Amino acid sequence: MNNFIPYGHQWISEEEIRAVTQVLRGDWLTQGPAVEAFEAAVALAAGARHAVAFSSGTAALHGAYFAAGVGPGDEVLTSPLTFVATANAALYLGGEARFADIDPATGCLDPRKVREALSPRTRVIAPVSYAGYPAPMGEFLSLAREVGALVVEDASHALGGTRDGRPVGAEADLTVFSFHPVKHVTTGEGGMVTTDRDDLAARLRRFRSHGIEKAPEALEGPCEGPWYYEMQDLGYNYRLTDLQCALGLGQMGRLEGFVARRRELAARYDEAFGSVPGVQLPPRHPGHAYHLYPLRVEPAWRRALFEGLRRRELGVQVHYIPVPAHPFYRKRYGLALGSFPQAERFYASEISIPLYPALSDPQQDDVIRRIQEGLREAQADRKRMWLKTGG
Ligand SMILES: *Cc1c(COP(=O)(O)O)cnc(C)c1O
Repeated sequence: MNNFIPYGHQWISEEEIRAVTQVLRGDWLTQGPAVEAFEAAVALAAGARHAVAFSSGTAALHGAYFAAGVGPGDEVLTSPLTFVATANAALYLGGEARFADIDPATGCLDPRKVREALSPRTRVIAPVSYAGYPAPMGEFLSLAREVGALVVEDASHALGGTRDGRPVGAEADLTVFSFHPVKHVTTGEGGMVTTDRDDLAARLRRFRSHGIEKAPEALEGPCEGPWYYEMQDLGYNYRLTDLQCALGLGQMGRLEGFVARRRELAARYDEAFGSVPGVQLPPRHPGHAYHLYPLRVEPAWRRALFEGLRRRELGVQVHYIPVPAHPFYRKRYGLALGSFPQAERFYASEISIPLYPALSDPQQDDVIRRIQEGLREAQADRKRMWLKTGG
């Protein structure tokens, strides 16, 4: 299988391995200096005053919705075209997920559809910067202000991206990142929430650690001594370890290079597939972070192409099965097929092809050749079927 090329892959340096080893030889395995250093690096890159590390992107979403005040009866309005965690985290808090359709041009939540779905119960609007395309945050922020909601950007795909020259993470009330190995920067498992607001940052820190508050000035009752702390909220153990943060800190040092390389690879794909009939390229944006390179093809031959590419040892993937179509959500909300026509059509036509900074030019040329072959085969198959059945 050494010819196999996945759709995403981490890139760990020897220096990062040494940094992790150094933590192992030190005094803190968790909650030591590496956590703060990693948080500071992400806050800087995201243009936010605070960054709070979590044990996964999912835990970070849970924390962000908690900080935003989501509870029973509240709704988190999000995109159907996302990983299930974006919606699930609302349910963890006793709230509900609501969906609005996407803009087919970008794959991101459509502000016009959000307006139609807003309700007095909307506590959070949670746009997803799909594939790394920076979703239009200004529009979501003004919609949220109309109903007294907050915006939580799921920027799991968009670390290192920008909009109007400002880093992703600088605009939304709360921004969530993931450090899963296929994402821009990895800690194995890991996540982060950035925010400018001191009160939200304090809630995030408590939530990450059992709801416990230690700062004397933030106690509800009198401080009974130097040992004293209070549990003020029902929190979790969602801490990220120093081992992981040492890795993440090293990775952050290479973020700019990672994003630049992803953009280079995307431009080469644009060039290779731009004039292929029946193939639609991902949208361009000067601040695109390119977590994914989502090609769109005719739904009628997407499956044949997908299988042909897997046969050619390309680890292609589909992002995403619309969240409300999963059995759990179908049973919970009973949304009929056709409720989100744009997201459904996007899903039916999408294939994510290999994109990660360690992919070399010759490897990418090889990927392009395999995809061109696969495209010819899938289209020919389709034509044969069409002739056989008379259309
Ligand atoms: C990866 C991802 C998450 C969850 O992140 P984990 O770190 O795997 O928990 C959430 N939302 C989106 C859109 C993602 O891609």
